[in-house]
Amino acid sequence: MKNNGYHRMRRLGKLIDEHRLIMQEHIGCELTPDEIVHHINEDKTDNRIENLMIMTLAEHSSLHSTGHTASKEFREHLSKIKKGIPNYGAAKINLSQLQDILTSIRNHETFRSIADRHGVNHSVISDIHLGKRQIYEQMKQQIEC
Ligand SMILES: [Zn+2]
Repeated sequence: MKNNGYHRMRRLGKLIDEHRLIMQEHIGCELTPDEIVHHINEDKTDNRIENLMIMTLAEHSSLHSTGHTASKEFREHLSKIKKGIPNYGAAKINLSQLQDILTSIRNHETFRSIADRHGVNHSVISDIHLGKRQIYEQMKQQIEC
């Protein structure tokens, strides 16, 4: 089923956009109405997880509107998305992995050993620890969901 170019699906009797469902399953949490799932390459039918990223409603309208006044940092962030940097928007881990990673960092396990267990590069663990990547910061906030 299509609506505004998006694929929609029925989930527990409710209609949900397929790309939101895919993101929800990826992060293991329900998205709030303020959390928009944007298609990085602007193809609304391309629902591969690496083409999806969570943004706030405000960020998303700013991205799609012209003549907005966004901060320098946010403009750089958007231009990275528009250039389609692979995996820029998508997280390489799910929420339960993030939970384990945060606990392991607190328990002073080495980044390399945590990374090996989760099959990611140790820079991912360091980015999570330093709060460098927006997607992991969003996921941290959702841990209580
Ligand atoms: Zn969008």
